[in-house]
Amino acid sequence: DSEAFQRYQQLMGWVDEIRKLRVRTNADQPDQAAEAIAFGAEGIGLCRTEHMFFHHLAEIREMIAAGDVESRTKAVNKLLPFQREDFAGIFKAMNGLPVTIRLLDPPLHEFLSDRHLEENPTLGEELANELGVTVDFIRRRVEELHELNPMLGHRGCRLGIVYPEITAMQARAIMEAACDVQKEGIDVHPEIMVPLAGFQTEFDNQAGIIREVAEQVLEEKGVKVEYMVGTMVELPRAAICADQIAETAQFFSFGTNDLTQTTLGMSRDDYGTFIGHYRENDIIPADPFQTIDQDGVGRLMQTGVERGRGTRSDLKIGICGEHGGDPASVIFCHGLGLDYVSCSPFRVPIARLAAAQAVLEEKA
Ligand code: PEP
Ligand code: MG
Repeated sequence: DSEAFQRYQQLMGWVDEIRKLRVRTNADQPDQAAEAIAFGAEGIGLCRTEHMFFHHLAEIREMIAAGDVESRTKAVNKLLPFQREDFAGIFKAMNGLPVTIRLLDPPLHEFLSDRHLEENPTLGEELANELGVTVDFIRRRVEELHELNPMLGHRGCRLGIVYPEITAMQARAIMEAACDVQKEGIDVHPEIMVPLAGFQTEFDNQAGIIREVAEQVLEEKGVKVEYMVGTMVELPRAAICADQIAETAQFFSFGTNDLTQTTLGMSRDDYGTFIGHYRENDIIPADPFQTIDQDGVGRLMQTGVERGRGTRSDLKIGICGEHGGDPASVIFCHGLGLDYVSCSPFRVPIARLAAAQAVLEEKA
């Protein structure tokens, strides 16, 4: 009822006065973004762009199956108008709040594999016709892309490094959308994020393309948009080398899903087979994919924060793994001095409460 709601609002008002951590949301659709704002989100901390690609499978499959740069670039550029529209919708929904957009991340077999070719018997032929090649060519291409360990394979920025036209297209879509929305009088603050970088050279390769395209678009459109280019920190190497990466990255966001997977050497997709036994026998104190493993992953995060800010004292740092909505992890992130946590829309009020709790615990 409305009285209960008023009390809730009053409580959350106090909570917001106390907390230091900002709370953002993970969202990749305008309606999710709007929902999160209603829950008090202060920006988007992770907009995963792969979900947008799943709506345009035909184009992305052409892009993957293409054997040369020319046909790939043609396929990639078919995606530009869709991506631009998706980003414009999100910028409008966020109405001036910052939006972190992450470039394409998942392994390509999620979009096109031998399983897809089997399930859809006309798919190979359709792709072959569109690209002007044989069905055999498509099959060979799919075989070439097959990986035994896709989560440790050709994903994240490795895609954008091998296929720079994807990064260029996404950067263009983000910046064109940003300029168009800004022209409508709505402030836009895009933060373009590179996934799965472990080497500064990987980040620099992608940031170079992003900044070049961004400057081009700003000149074409004649609009001023403040944008940032930063990276996920989701590999141990990125945390260890944070001092180097921060020389060129303007912000960090801890991807604790992958950072947990790679630090513990536990597959985030398969750990269910033994975690029950581990918990029952107190082998580990909590589910590391729910609550930050403070002694392992947490120390790497601390290293990342210290080394990153050692290079760039104003480095903006957040977290966008599932842990960003877990109260104990939020309290830990406050202690590390992060600027924000980002979590799913429904967890935003919980994260706001936990962030305030962290301050109160500190004073007690
Ligand atoms: C992460 O790895 O923590 C992350 C946020 O990215 P994703 O879950 O999409 O891999
Ligand atoms: Mg990740």
